[in-house]
Amino acid sequence: MVWFTRKDKKFKDAEKKDMPDGLWVKCPSCSEILYKPELDKSHSVCRHCQHHFRVSPDLYEMLLLDTGTGKEMFGNIEAIDLLNFKSGKKYTDQLKTAKKKTGHNEAVRCFSGMINGHEIILGVMNFKFIGGSMGSVVGERIARSIDLAMEKKIPFILVCASGGARMQEGAISLMQLAKTSAHLARFSDAGGLYIPILTDPTTGGVTASYGMLGDVILAEPGALIGFAGPRVIKQTIGQDLPKGFQRAEFLLEKGFVDHIVPRATMKSNLSNIISLLS
Ligand SMILES: [Zn+2]
Repeated sequence: MVWFTRKDKKFKDAEKKDMPDGLWVKCPSCSEILYKPELDKSHSVCRHCQHHFRVSPDLYEMLLLDTGTGKEMFGNIEAIDLLNFKSGKKYTDQLKTAKKKTGHNEAVRCFSGMINGHEIILGVMNFKFIGGSMGSVVGERIARSIDLAMEKKIPFILVCASGGARMQEGAISLMQLAKTSAHLARFSDAGGLYIPILTDPTTGGVTASYGMLGDVILAEPGALIGFAGPRVIKQTIGQDLPKGFQRAEFLLEKGFVDHIVPRATMKSNLSNIISLLS
């Protein structure tokens, strides 16, 4: 016997009005309404469908590094507007807005620290900072991180989240693809271990360079990973795209990704890989 029926799982507008602001979040994948403090406890992963919400880079720093070991590096390198770029809004103003919004001064932060006692260099990209775009500063901080990992003979781990190159910096942004790739090639020749973690979304120039150059490539469940977006590809080839196209699971099946690792076990998985390979 069914005692209670609920025809529509989604909350109606009238019910929504009774919810205190900021305490409840709707899962975009399964539409369940989630209690924010509980969602925070599960590292922003839906307990019903395991949907991984996009999160701030501070969470990865906290999640991956042993407490008290993280030390930020290269934070004093800041972007300048070399091209005097303006498209609706000045690039300098966009930078100011992004800094205010995120509380950080670029789309990547780099740390030296430890993962379960293993000394590592960690980079974490921030999609909220101008779409995690790879400009001259992102490229430079990553290149210096790679060189430091090589000098110290320790692994380099990079949490990727990006919409691609930073068009406001034109060719200088595109140059970062070649620069970071060249630094990684030297690191690899010297026997260095590099592990990128592809999170939602990792697209454009990042997948065309350091996103895909790892010794072991990890991804979070359901992450969008690709170069051009699905709409552009569909228009270009004039065909429907397969189900799950450009999602982490699809890339694993095609061999572009080595493992899909849930956020909760990312640290233990990383430390196992480091133990095995370094
Ligand atoms: Zn869900």
